[in-house]
Amino acid sequence: MADIIRLLPDHVANQIAAGEVVQRPSSVVKELMENAIDAGATEIQLIIKDGGKTLIQVVDNGKGMSGTDARLSFERHATSKIQKAEDLFNLNTKGFRGEALASIAAIAHVEMLTKTEDDEIGTKIKIEGSKIVTQEVVVAPKGTSMLVKNLFFNIPARRNFLKSDQVEYRHIADEFHRISLAHPQVAFNFYNNGSDVFQLPDTDFRKRIVHIFGRKTDEKLVPVEEETHVVKISGYIQKPEFAKKSRGEQFFFANNRFIKSPYLHHAILGAFEGLIRPGTHPGYFLNLEVDPGTIDINIHPTKTEVKFDDEHTLYAMLKSTVKHSLGQFNVVPALDFEQDQNLDTPYSYKNKQVGIPQVVVDSSFNPFETVQPSKGNSGGGSYSKPKVDGWENLYVGLENTVDNGASHLEFESEVVISSIFDDEREVLDYTTTTFQMRKKYIITTIKSGMVVINQSRAHQRVLYENFLKNITIKEAVSQQLLFPLTLSFSTSEINILKEIKENLCTVGFVFGEITEDGVEISGVPVLVVESEVQMIMEQLISDFQQEVPGDSFSQSDMLAKTLAKTLSVKTGETLDELSQVKLVNDLFACKETTLSPFNKKVYITVTENDIERKFI
Ligand code: ADP
Ligand code: MG
Repeated sequence: MADIIRLLPDHVANQIAAGEVVQRPSSVVKELMENAIDAGATEIQLIIKDGGKTLIQVVDNGKGMSGTDARLSFERHATSKIQKAEDLFNLNTKGFRGEALASIAAIAHVEMLTKTEDDEIGTKIKIEGSKIVTQEVVVAPKGTSMLVKNLFFNIPARRNFLKSDQVEYRHIADEFHRISLAHPQVAFNFYNNGSDVFQLPDTDFRKRIVHIFGRKTDEKLVPVEEETHVVKISGYIQKPEFAKKSRGEQFFFANNRFIKSPYLHHAILGAFEGLIRPGTHPGYFLNLEVDPGTIDINIHPTKTEVKFDDEHTLYAMLKSTVKHSLGQFNVVPALDFEQDQNLDTPYSYKNKQVGIPQVVVDSSFNPFETVQPSKGNSGGGSYSKPKVDGWENLYVGLENTVDNGASHLEFESEVVISSIFDDEREVLDYTTTTFQMRKKYIITTIKSGMVVINQSRAHQRVLYENFLKNITIKEAVSQQLLFPLTLSFSTSEINILKEIKENLCTVGFVFGEITEDGVEISGVPVLVVESEVQMIMEQLISDFQQEVPGDSFSQSDMLAKTLAKTLSVKTGETLDELSQVKLVNDLFACKETTLSPFNKKVYITVTENDIERKFI
């Protein structure tokens, strides 16, 4: 048999390598920006169009390349950063594999313009699918500009596999966040489709975080600092009360490189344990500096997964350092997460605990002095001081009672307000008798036997259909807030909110001004309580972050689902009889009754036969 093994031509090998290095436009952004950093740039510009599919450009003022280097940089395994294998253990650069430019040039149209400080004249190279189209000498400023157009032009399968421009943009924005956070001393500009997204001056780590995630972030940050012979930990964690529904703001950097580490993430979760609500995620921005010889960044082409020599020690140290910061900055005692909203004292009783400080003996009491200052109900003792934000609850409570009664389930309050119930009684079907079991199921009888309804899923179904209807007929009732709420978000979260704003309006949210790091909300759907607005918005953003709906119908659908999930009665909530009956009736008035919006069974039936069989 003839020999059949052949060496692959370079351009094919490069295309194959590109599959690993370049998964999507954001991979190109990462590689080009890292090259710019490695070149010692102090100013880097990122310009993209259409989620990076049509254009990605990175311009730096770094050291540039000579004509020969410029040509050579596109060869596979061409790198200036290491010379021998041992260098791998003392890396101070982002790149070292010498395959990024070769890979990118294999699957896109690339134009490089570069000049070193010493050269009079620069070099321009055009390369398409690994083939040099032109190389010429040109006038250029010091530094390098890399232009990447038509990504995957020669691999239609990969190109088709790309997500919508919005999704690809988000990946790029994530990458931009990571790199610019890792290098606060470098100035960055970011333009998307002609408009500028970020103008970040060179600064320190804290200010960089604030520039990226919004002004309000500053007050949320708690510094973390620890130095041992194994690792130097520095950075910030977010106070637990700002833990979010979305996992957005979690960053580890090892030796100035963004890394992913589920293991170390777990250490942070451990430190926050008991301080944040289930289902929320702590924010952190942590730098780990270790001896480059004790970390292996070569285990994955994108180098975000790394291996530390002594992960266990690192884990323990991280956990205790973060715990220490939480304690030291007194963040812990101020927290009050365990408090159940449903158990809140009604407003009129709120000040009744005033009694406590009166027991305190006033040691400076002098019977011969003129009258003691009166112990008015706000008192001087810190116990009796009214909560600063307490007055808001007055309105929240009122809205709550009225709205729940008028439109939906009455489950938050045990107090029966007869006038509301009288109205309701007429519309309710009194032939229905119900019974709640284990604060989870509503049981009611039907002709053939009985139905066991999962209360939470049933309510989700009811709310879901309700919201969908509102969205379609655009007739939602909204309640005006007495004082508009201003919620703060990061730029990328604001972008998501802008995308779904129109649909949010159709369900009853009313928006005021939207700035780059905050939104004003002046009205909310009747079912929504003011104090829950932030949480609902975060849930929405997080859902939309994870899964971007393709069209406006699926956007409405997702919105209705998220709202239904967030606002529904949960397992563990007691429903009074009236609410039970109303839930049953509402459920069976739905278009679809058997499945929740998330395709879970809403109820099961137990027939008389089933029961009788059990008695045999
Ligand atoms: P690596 O970064 O792993 O060395 P790349 O393919 O990304 O490999 O780049 C190859 C080489 O091209 C680099 O080692 C560097 O010498 C040079 N280079 C790439 N981008 C730049 C830039 N923006 N400025 C200066 N030199 C660059
Ligand atoms: Mg590189």
